[in-house]
Amino acid sequence: ESEELPRKLQSVLTEDLRTAMSELKVQSVLVTGSNRGIGFEFVQQFLRSQCPPEKIFATCRDPGSPQSQELKNLSTKNPNVIVIQLDTTDPASVSTSVKEVEKHLNGQQLDLLINNAGVLTHNNLESQNAEDMLRVYNINVVGPMLVTQAFYPLLKRAEGTGRSAVVHISALLGSLEDVPHLFSFFPVISYRCSKAALNMLSRCQAEGYKQDGIISIAIHPGWVKTDMGGDQAPLTKEDSVSSMMKIISTLNEKQSGTFVDWEGKILPW
Ligand code: NDP
Repeated sequence: ESEELPRKLQSVLTEDLRTAMSELKVQSVLVTGSNRGIGFEFVQQFLRSQCPPEKIFATCRDPGSPQSQELKNLSTKNPNVIVIQLDTTDPASVSTSVKEVEKHLNGQQLDLLINNAGVLTHNNLESQNAEDMLRVYNINVVGPMLVTQAFYPLLKRAEGTGRSAVVHISALLGSLEDVPHLFSFFPVISYRCSKAALNMLSRCQAEGYKQDGIISIAIHPGWVKTDMGGDQAPLTKEDSVSSMMKIISTLNEKQSGTFVDWEGKILPW
């Protein structure tokens, strides 16, 4: 028994070290809502990264719209940027996108899914109505649920073949504990409720997909200058996304099921 304990201790330590040192290898990534804002920035930074993924599935709900032109130009110049139509709330569009991605992957797995698409509407306790509540929930929660469910077979790892990850772009405004802090400035009821629910979805996936080698994490990108964040936001898309890229490249099982900000700081639920 006296030999048993040090051996056990050593195996725990070796496991810890292995987990801490290994990086998430991203040879393929899919980003939702990637035609503008934070999603488009992710596509650009993956492209410029030291070891760019072989396949960057840049999805958006309307590739034909003027709002997607910049993304299409990027894809014309870079064959590893593959633009795919994906309205995250439309089950038919979701399943068509899976088939398309599968064709490009040639039997390989999908390493990373970034559920980024989202909407925010300005409603307070008085103005919030059922229709908006349901629409925002549908885009911010049902979308990531459908997309993750549909891509699960491609994300799933066979034993010993490394890990994959689902990153949910959440928001500090979805933190229950943080509500008193910014409530008077940003009541945004439907948005807050939807992001709180998204955090729960992320935690459930972390638990349920553990044995499949799939990590799930919710990240608050900071308050970022985009169409949603507005001009007063303190962070640029470049800085927010480059910080999140660092978190993603070193993601490990221990971080699965957590809620962090763009710098990796743990946030209260
Ligand atoms: P933007 O408003 O700039 O972009 C939102 C993106 O989501 C667009 O590409 C939009 O596509 C897409 N989208 C919306 N609905 C759907 C749908 N049904 N299917 C597919 N795509 C859809 O927002 P940001 O880039 O700022 O936000 C990205 C994420 O970051 C969101 O989840 C947001 O909640 C989160 N976030 C942002 C913060 C900020 O300060 N900016 C702060 C905290 C969180 P389309 O062009 O077709 O409308």
